[in-house]
Amino acid sequence: MNKLSYPLYQHRSGWNALLPPRTNTQLLSTELNVDVAVIGAGYTGIAAAKRWQELAPDDAIAIIDASVVGEGTPGRNSGFLLEIALANDARPEHMQRMMKCNALIGATLEKIVAAVDKSDIDCALRRTGTYRAAAGRLGRKALEQYRSFLHGAGLPYERLDRAALLQRLGTGFYQEGLYSPHCYLAQPAALIRALAQQLPPSIRLYENTPATALTRTGNRWLIETPDGAISARKVVLANNGFSKMLGVGKSQLVTIYTYAAITPVLEQGMLESLGSEKNWGLLPTHRLGSTLRRTEDGRMMIRSRYGYETETSNGLVAKELMRGLQQRFPQLNASEFEHVWGGAIGFTFNGGPIWGEVKPGLFVSAGCNGGGVVKGTLFGELLADLANRRKVADVAGLFGRASWMPPEPFRALGFQLISALEKYRGRAEA
Ligand SMILES: Cc1cc2nc3c(=O)[nH]c(=O)nc-3n(C[C@H](O)[C@H](O)[C@H](O)COP(=O)(O)OP(=O)(O)OC[C@H]3O[C@@H](n4cnc5c(N)ncnc54)[C@H](O)[C@@H]3O)c2cc1C
Repeated sequence: MNKLSYPLYQHRSGWNALLPPRTNTQLLSTELNVDVAVIGAGYTGIAAAKRWQELAPDDAIAIIDASVVGEGTPGRNSGFLLEIALANDARPEHMQRMMKCNALIGATLEKIVAAVDKSDIDCALRRTGTYRAAAGRLGRKALEQYRSFLHGAGLPYERLDRAALLQRLGTGFYQEGLYSPHCYLAQPAALIRALAQQLPPSIRLYENTPATALTRTGNRWLIETPDGAISARKVVLANNGFSKMLGVGKSQLVTIYTYAAITPVLEQGMLESLGSEKNWGLLPTHRLGSTLRRTEDGRMMIRSRYGYETETSNGLVAKELMRGLQQRFPQLNASEFEHVWGGAIGFTFNGGPIWGEVKPGLFVSAGCNGGGVVKGTLFGELLADLANRRKVADVAGLFGRASWMPPEPFRALGFQLISALEKYRGRAEA
């Protein structure tokens, strides 16, 4: 089991590797006194810091991250920015709640788009919409459930049969699908760089600076890092699955690794065999299924597989991901990916986040449960609102609250059992 307080990945983020190296990064090598320290420069941490600065412009704010912006977890995802809730949340009886969540998420997404517009970094952020497709009986059931939510909520969608999916996406793998326009796709490493670039100059950002310990000393918090330390009046813990390593969420959170791979730019002839759509994303109906993307520069990306608390050998994963891609696109003659990488996700048993003030002056948002680009941004902003005594949406009422998990070894055993069962149920879309 990983005992580090931060992620240390086997391979570079494929998305970040496609960008020019980030320069002029700063490492914390002194002792710092600030009003607010944010641990984690992801979507949550950056949003929290920005909002805090708006609300309390005189507060000295510092953000630290274990990695370099773009290379860490926020630059490793599949780049879907969903405007509406995922299928497994979409039960019609929860319609009212979902509509409120969607309004908050939609407004947050607008802010992300505005921030990207101001940046000179090209994030390939496009409102492409998203496909959801089913390859088995359970998948079709889930798809129908999602369709009835969209229908009930008056949201637009399009139904696609196998032939239509083949014509658009070049795969005959799925029996049916839905297209919803409510999604943006982005280059995630570029996106997090653009958001970090928009931090006001008064907020100090230290990269390659992991928090190795977090303790209360008198009425302040002390954060230890390998080459320095920060004493802060208030702390925002925004390091997702790793917050438990700093003492928060131990009985609610597990760190799950999932994996992605991207091909080189495909040859023109090959691209022409891949359907009429040139830039698309497809989500599975089952949570253990595979995500797919075709990027606008002509690459295919696949995300699949899960590992409990430790990163599986990327060599083994690469073979499975290639098999998954070729099952969907037998015409693909790519035999190797250009990049394969893992990324850590904070998971909770019931999908609810750990969110709020957990100790005096210690504010936490953790447990993204696999979809946190927009939600993390929202939760980060709301956390700053909460800390600055602003009126805040009812996060627990709308998005849930992380439930208790049994300690090890029962937790690992439970995970293995549930994932074996889910893997079986979702095998058609693996
Ligand atoms: C392969 C993959 C695909 C995904 N696809 C999608 C998708 O398409 N859409 C979507 O919405 N979500 C997706 N996700 C999930 C998404 O990446 C997360 O929900 C999102 O990044 C959460 O943002 P965050 O800021 O809360 O946490 P994180 O992104 O996990 O960021 C936490 C930050 O904290 C830093 N950190 C950790 N520990 C420490 C420490 N001790 N000290 C200092 N810094 C620390 C990390 O380096 C990191 O930068 C995916 C995740 C993976 C792994």
